[in-house]
Amino acid sequence: MPTIALISPDFDLRPQAPRLRAALPGHRIAVWPEDDVSDAEIALAWEPPQDVLHAMPNLRLLQGVAAGVDNLIDRTRPGPWKICRVVDPQQPASMEQYVLWAVLHFHRHFDVALANQARQAWRREPPKRTADFRIGVMGMGEIGLKVAEGLARRGYPVSGWSRTLKRAEGVRTFDESGYADFLGQLDVLVCLLPLTEQTRGILDRRTFDALPSGSALVHVGRGDHLVPGDLIDALQRGHLRGAVLDVFPKEPLPEGHPLWSTPGVVVTPHMATMADQDAVLEQALVNIRIAFAGSDDFINQVDPARGY
Ligand code: NDP
Repeated sequence: MPTIALISPDFDLRPQAPRLRAALPGHRIAVWPEDDVSDAEIALAWEPPQDVLHAMPNLRLLQGVAAGVDNLIDRTRPGPWKICRVVDPQQPASMEQYVLWAVLHFHRHFDVALANQARQAWRREPPKRTADFRIGVMGMGEIGLKVAEGLARRGYPVSGWSRTLKRAEGVRTFDESGYADFLGQLDVLVCLLPLTEQTRGILDRRTFDALPSGSALVHVGRGDHLVPGDLIDALQRGHLRGAVLDVFPKEPLPEGHPLWSTPGVVVTPHMATMADQDAVLEQALVNIRIAFAGSDDFINQVDPARGY
């Protein structure tokens, strides 16, 4: 009987098991670690231990349950299996809500108002016009491009930066070579990049120093894009005004970590948006059926060498 494995040490994939069983009679749905998954051809996974994957000689498809696939790829030990991610059509809108909230935090001076409240100080900041508050989105993919267009529709001047040049409505776009020009004209930098060998540590001193003094960071990509010490330093020097951070090199952010208490930093627990579980199931089922029909022409396949 063909086997499909669910492998996730932290994020609970068990609720998908009865749904897969109902949709795929005649298949064995095995939940790691309690069930033997060694004969599975397909695995749905979040942060699967690579040893477990390498002990599955029949594995053909590693199906992610999120937009990002950095949790699935081990560049030092690539496997022969294909890797697919979830592209949830609802995610850009819910990411846009989070990013808009974070942009407003700075644009409408809520950061200053909250700091003033802590000192019982009644001070009104001079308003800044929407048309003068410049936002830059790094990563113009399925999510970033729509977030950029959405913010532009609200009247913000928006720029987008990506490896290859993109076209986006109402958005000024830059490719890789335009990094310094992109950064040099922003009030808020929004990171929506995937985590790859090229983007790891990209939110470092060099990037922060290329931003105008008094600008802010909204980080919703992946924790390892950020060099926390460089951010803390840029905030303490007064070069950056503040940061809204949703993702961290180690999650949960450890108790006592300086980012919890650095003035100007807002911490949220990786909650910007999450792939809807119905969308995960639907896309997994499409790929499972493709696999059992003998093809490997899967939807939402990623390039493991490129990392996204
Ligand atoms: P996509 O893969 O669709 O898009 C990635 C974008 O990043 C592309 O525009 C790509 O450029 C660009 N890019 C990749 N590498 C580089 C590089 N070295 N330099 C410049 N640009 C680069 O990703 P999504 O939009 O679906 O998702 C983006 C990320 O958002 C996810 O990987 C994840 O990290 C994060 N995320 C966070 C969530 C949260 O709750 N905090 C939830 C969901 C996603 P090009 O198009 O030219 O290839």
